[in-house]
Amino acid sequence: MTAPLIQPLDEHNLRHLANVHPQGHVNPEPRDRYHLVVIGAGPGGLVTAAAGAALGARVALVEKHLMGGDCLNVGCVPSKGIIRAARAWHEARRGREEFGGPAVDGGGDFAAAMRRMRRLRAGLSRVDSVERYRGLGVDVFIGEGRFAGPAAIEVGPARLVFRRAVIATGARPALPPCPGLDGIAPLTNETIFWIEALPARLTVIGAGPIGCEMAQTFARFGCRVTLVNRGSQVLPREDRDAARIVEEAMARDGVRFQLGSKLLLAERAGGETILHYERDGRRERLASDQILVAAGRQPNVESLGLESAGVRYDAKGVKVDARLRTTNGRVYAIGDVCSRHQFTHAADAQARLVVQNALFFGRGRADRLVMPWCTYTSPEIAHVGLYEADARAAGIEVDTITVSLEELDRAVLDGANEGFVRVHLKRGTDRILGATLVAEHAGDMIGELALAITAGTGLGAIGRTIHPYPTQGEIIRKAADAWRRGKLTPAVRKTFDLFFRLVR
Ligand SMILES: Cc1cc2nc3c(=O)[nH]c(=O)nc-3n(C[C@H](O)[C@H](O)[C@H](O)COP(=O)(O)OP(=O)(O)OC[C@H]3O[C@@H](n4cnc5c(N)ncnc54)[C@H](O)[C@@H]3O)c2cc1C
Repeated sequence: MTAPLIQPLDEHNLRHLANVHPQGHVNPEPRDRYHLVVIGAGPGGLVTAAAGAALGARVALVEKHLMGGDCLNVGCVPSKGIIRAARAWHEARRGREEFGGPAVDGGGDFAAAMRRMRRLRAGLSRVDSVERYRGLGVDVFIGEGRFAGPAAIEVGPARLVFRRAVIATGARPALPPCPGLDGIAPLTNETIFWIEALPARLTVIGAGPIGCEMAQTFARFGCRVTLVNRGSQVLPREDRDAARIVEEAMARDGVRFQLGSKLLLAERAGGETILHYERDGRRERLASDQILVAAGRQPNVESLGLESAGVRYDAKGVKVDARLRTTNGRVYAIGDVCSRHQFTHAADAQARLVVQNALFFGRGRADRLVMPWCTYTSPEIAHVGLYEADARAAGIEVDTITVSLEELDRAVLDGANEGFVRVHLKRGTDRILGATLVAEHAGDMIGELALAITAGTGLGAIGRTIHPYPTQGEIIRKAADAWRRGKLTPAVRKTFDLFFRLVR
């Protein structure tokens, strides 16, 4: 029996499938030679194919599963859909305590929240649909793509000969080493958005962005969530104090943490899933209804015939140079299959770059892209550029400015004043090297700092920019004010004092 593409097969998912994997689709007759063949129709592959076709190139796009890739089907879109629903539930409850709002009793309708997500996803899927890509002039092949030599890809009986190819096959969830885990078929991001009934108890393995976002979301839906993680810090990539704010917010939402845990065994017994782990030298046993694994990703490199194309890869993915070229000069790779930045906007940015590099002898470098990111917990953590440790490792001295959200009227009035902005500047200058924001809507605000880094605009210019009062975005201007105040050295201060004594 073949695995289902998506579940449940309700009206929304059927509408969705009609867009991203239409029944009865017939692959076109391959052209003699394509300028560009793209394997994988996630965000990276879609942008590459659309941009190539818009420039007049003959383009083929190969997708074995669902157009839209992880982002549309099992990633950003469904996760942000249910995060929004859980926030609405949370706000409804909090409205009473914090704002004197109407009383809200009992649980919500989880199935309705999931249905809403499926309805919205089906609507968004039109943009990634087979029909739309055909309309753009792209030859869409549904099936598994596999290299058959250095300049050809096979999809079933079809042979696509190419001038250039782009591998955009993405990544999939990795299971951490734990005996029995595979056997109990835990939930992953590929199946969690299929469920229609809220588990009473959920164990989440992994405290990275996906684990934290989903743990908080399910806790807000009323599920008893325990988050088990090997490391002692949630969101380990982020500054410790930033991650701590998120951890505390999640704990207030009911998430129980078992950090610093070593997994020993997973089993199913009496209708429950049992996770055994070791923590602080003690063996623990945790029973729940479902386990969600969110413990890292592995690149989709197998069964692509990469050896036959002379494309090198390892456990981290396809090997590319700064221009995203693989070890076969005609073949490029983008997105999760090769990048350390596993985001939709990273795949998108790399796609734009690779179209120039592959088709037009461009020399755009992926390592020069300024890459912001955001974890959509509540509060959010967004970051761009260097962390202080990165700067130190590169031998760059920094001045660091941190301003708390407590100083921001809007954050106080909104009751969302836990967080901060932190900006790292090249020492003695206002040149921004990196920044972290912890705030509701941090992801919407980090763009201003990403623009400043990209355009080489200093923090001084942000300070001179008028920001509307009262907004969350003012926090960035406040960081600039703090920097300006810091420039008032005792000597300058003394000169000013003298001036004001003389000018009466
Ligand atoms: C739960 C979750 C939440 C996320 N949230 C966010 C977010 O909020 N913001 C953000 O920026 N990023 C988010 N991401 C990450 C984002 O989804 C990925 O970075 C993005 O989808 C990567 O795009 P891609 O094109 O590289 O690969 P993918 O989206 O993985 O697409 C690859 C495609 O290639 C196809 N494929 C693979 N092998 C073959 C083959 N041999 N032949 C044909 N087709 C093949 C696959 O079926 C798939 O459709 C999230 C991820 C997850 C899992």
